[in-house]
Amino acid sequence: MKAALSELPAVRGKYVENADLSALTWFRVGGPADVLFMPADEDDLAHFLKNTPATVPVMTMGVGSNLLVRDGGVRGVMIRLGSPFRKIDASGTTVSAGAAAIDAQVAKAAAEAGIAGLEFFRGVPGTIGGALAMNAGAYGGETKDVLVEAVGFTRNGERRVFSNEEMGFSYRHCDSADGVIFTRATFAGTRGDPEEITARMRDISEKREATQPIRERTGGSTFANPDPALSGGRKSWQLIDEIGARGRVVGDAQVSERHCNFMINRGKATAADLETLIESLRKDVLTKLGVELRWEIRRVGEPVRD
Ligand SMILES: Cc1cc2nc3c(=O)[nH]c(=O)nc-3n(C[C@H](O)[C@H](O)[C@H](O)COP(=O)(O)OP(=O)(O)OC[C@H]3O[C@@H](n4cnc5c(N)ncnc54)[C@H](O)[C@@H]3O)c2cc1C
Repeated sequence: MKAALSELPAVRGKYVENADLSALTWFRVGGPADVLFMPADEDDLAHFLKNTPATVPVMTMGVGSNLLVRDGGVRGVMIRLGSPFRKIDASGTTVSAGAAAIDAQVAKAAAEAGIAGLEFFRGVPGTIGGALAMNAGAYGGETKDVLVEAVGFTRNGERRVFSNEEMGFSYRHCDSADGVIFTRATFAGTRGDPEEITARMRDISEKREATQPIRERTGGSTFANPDPALSGGRKSWQLIDEIGARGRVVGDAQVSERHCNFMINRGKATAADLETLIESLRKDVLTKLGVELRWEIRRVGEPVRD
């Protein structure tokens, strides 16, 4: 059932009805959210959560770099944290960042303050909220290696502080993320030389540029890499390559020629094209190679608009 503004509490932040989510995701596909909510601050978010009927579904997004919004859009409220949640402070060996801060900006602030260990964030084009929910990582580092604690709000508006252990991190997964809206996080690194840290970040940046289709409409790694014991040590892209699916096309959705664990919207793809393409890869890898691939991209919303 569609959520209506009349069911929602008065807030200091902003509501947008029938909000186009395709413009807010990297894939540039998908239907609208009934309501998009951008809270003014943590108190506003808590007030919204406490006073929104439990029957209204609530979801969160960052910058949509790992998100496939289906063509029918999202029923209920999509929360998107904006500029009040983008603050970054780096001093000593600690970096604290709002959940809407862009990972690369956090890496940059850490480097400038001479804090080593957060360089990997340079390779992840999402927000800190997305990094917490996905245990994002790149080039040997991941969120769980540097997180001290995260602050989040439950669906009923309760503020909680999660220690690293309480996050329940595993590969590209966080047990605590279900239904929690993270608003900020504190990370710890070690003292380092700003120039050396910056050089390592430049290296990460160049490697990404050379291997990933980062200027395309994509959603990042489609499948998490399988357990090496089950895949004979092969990564997802290698399995997709082995079944001959590099460049495979459904409608305007395509398996990237550059990196076959990345899907691309060539311009007019629908979410259904992308989902059909990805499911065809999952099926063929299972049938031909006996390996089950797990979606890393998060799918949200309804296939068709009601
Ligand atoms: C070109 C490209 C390269 C990429 N390379 C990498 C890589 O090397 N390593 C890697 O790990 N990822 C990579 N990704 C995937 C993606 O950038 C990460 O998963 C990132 O952490 C997602 O952040 P986001 O802000 O875009 O989240 P979204 O895609 O908007 O959302 C992803 C998930 O996080 C949840 N979420 C977002 N914000 C919050 C919040 N505040 N509170 C609770 N839940 C939240 C959403 O509900 C959703 O389930 C890549 C993506 C692209 C497009």
